Amino acid sequence: MIETPASAQLVEAFTNTVDVELGTDDITEPAQLAAWLTERELLAPGTPVGAADHDLGLRLRAGIREELGLHVGDTPDPGLVRAADEALRELPLLTTVGGRATGTVLVPAPHLPPVGQALAAIAIAWSRLLITGEAARLKRCAEHGCAWVFWDVSKNRSRRWCSMRVCGNRTKARRYAAKHATTVAG
Ligand SMILES: [Zn+2]
Repeated sequence: MIETPASAQLVEAFTNTVDVELGTDDITEPAQLAAWLTERELLAPGTPVGAADHDLGLRLRAGIREELGLHVGDTPDPGLVRAADEALRELPLLTTVGGRATGTVLVPAPHLPPVGQALAAIAIAWSRLLITGEAARLKRCAEHGCAWVFWDVSKNRSRRWCSMRVCGNRTKARRYAAKHATTVAG
């Protein structure tokens, strides 16, 4: 069993605030994003999240979700990735020479307001996964009706579905139906 690093846990939780299958989104409103960040101790209780910061958060989430689809063979939407990169420009990070001891090589730029610091923490978690290569284990389920983000614990990082039993079989059943339909039509 490959333990999920803290960075992956944070990114996984953040990207799964949207549930494609249920059609729900836990952070539709700025206040919901504030609550989410507070719950994870990234933001002090009572700190309001403005519309602009909320927008940054949503763009960041959408872009990362696209990149996670890449890990199961999907093609990321370049518009969403670009929008996330533009959001990241508003959340600059600094490196620290002495960060090795504390594990804080990347830190949010000190001038960022509290909400910016909180969103930058998510950006740092994502950067860390990319730098270590661990990002490859974090994937968006290849079944598009599900699109749940999961941490692939398989030895060879070959999983494409959040659950083989549910999503893997769904994909197979659809493929079978499509093949069968073609056969009948042909
Ligand atoms: Zn799935």
